[in-house]
Amino acid sequence: MRRSRLEETMPLLGCIADDFTGATDLASMLVEHGMRTVQLIGVPAPGQPLPEADALVIALKSRTAPAGEAVAQSRAALAALRAAGCRQFFFKYCSTFDSTDAGNIGPVADALLADLGAGFALACPAFPANARSVYQGHLFVGSRLLNESGMENHPLTPMRDPDLVRVLARQTRGEVGLVPYAVVDQGAEAIRAALAACAREGKRYAIIDAVNERHLHAIGAAAAEHALITGGSGVAMGLPANFRRQGLLPERADPAALDDVPGLSAILAGSCSPATLGQITRARDVLPTLDLDPLATPDATALAAAALAWSREHLGASAEGRPPLIAASAPPERVAALQARLGRAQAGAVIETALATIAAGLRDLGVRRLVVAGGETSGAVVSRLGVRSLRIGAPIDPGVPWTRAEGDGPPLLLALKSGNFGAPDFFLKAFERLPAAKASRP
Ligand code: ADP
Repeated sequence: MRRSRLEETMPLLGCIADDFTGATDLASMLVEHGMRTVQLIGVPAPGQPLPEADALVIALKSRTAPAGEAVAQSRAALAALRAAGCRQFFFKYCSTFDSTDAGNIGPVADALLADLGAGFALACPAFPANARSVYQGHLFVGSRLLNESGMENHPLTPMRDPDLVRVLARQTRGEVGLVPYAVVDQGAEAIRAALAACAREGKRYAIIDAVNERHLHAIGAAAAEHALITGGSGVAMGLPANFRRQGLLPERADPAALDDVPGLSAILAGSCSPATLGQITRARDVLPTLDLDPLATPDATALAAAALAWSREHLGASAEGRPPLIAASAPPERVAALQARLGRAQAGAVIETALATIAAGLRDLGVRRLVVAGGETSGAVVSRLGVRSLRIGAPIDPGVPWTRAEGDGPPLLLALKSGNFGAPDFFLKAFERLPAAKASRP
């Protein structure tokens, strides 16, 4: 069944992600498996024109919001994705099933099912490439059960029960079943039959075992006709093939293709994670580097003004392949010192505001390619720049693609890195992997 010309411009898969970096992770997975994908920052306004894509991923900040708020945001996202023409829907949460007994995985999935008029969805956080596997409904991180993996101490969503059937059952009035390894290992047909049996028995959800990528592809194939699929980004790897089999998704020559954006380059770092500190150390020998000193100047406006004055001197090096690096990042003792002086929240806010102001100033100075290190830092930068959508390109390192950002102001190439992601040479490698300029036609 081929689609008409008009239908071919419509997205097939509509995704709702409960946080920003999780949305990018999912979007990257879909691109890798052949779908052109755009990430939207928050629910698009009614009538906002949406970029053409095979999959849309709406990034929410709903993971730890009060359940009612998470449900309202997710329903609004679903309505926008349905209006855009999507045919199947995916609710993305963390591969460690981050949630509490109050939600938000159960309440959000309940509301999405009800809005779709559907009675059943599978739930699969497994992502073997990242060492998350599910066996007999129990979630493992590497060789440890979830509740012994460190996640039991998470400040917002402590996970103290590894049995996901029980965990999800506490979050929903619906019944939760299990499709165990012995069935999953037999492949898509057996899984499809087991899921149908769960639905017939009146179960609302089935936790589904998966310990390798073959399982995830088979689960994806078995869910081809499901209105809603819930899980981590791993289980999404099986979905693009369904649309190809149905004749809805053409073979894309390069689903990660991005139009280049010529301009100057720069790097901003606000993450204090060991990975980012290592990446800064590696880059420092090669790139002009400015360390912000928020202890000496605990004022966002003054920090930003000084950094922009320094940038004017050093942006020239960007044209020679040496983008300037501006870092607030500091080792634990310096972070602790600033937090002792300003309080934890205020210390973070001063630096996030400074880095967001610097990002806006750099754009005014002609920067069009920007790497940002840190999840919260990226959120602050994207919001200050008025970015509404990110077209997802090829990964620089796993989980961190170049993206083409559109919104208020000129388009930009952005690489937004969750603190702990990326190899030690990430900042250098990013600029070797920029989207290629289109060959000019003779
Ligand atoms: P990650 O992805 O590593 O968690 P985030 O950007 O999400 O990185 O979080 C890092 C937080 O640390 C931000 O709120 C940032 O403003 C704050 N921060 C950065 N540098 C410092 C510093 N020198 N002292 C105190 N806090 C800092």
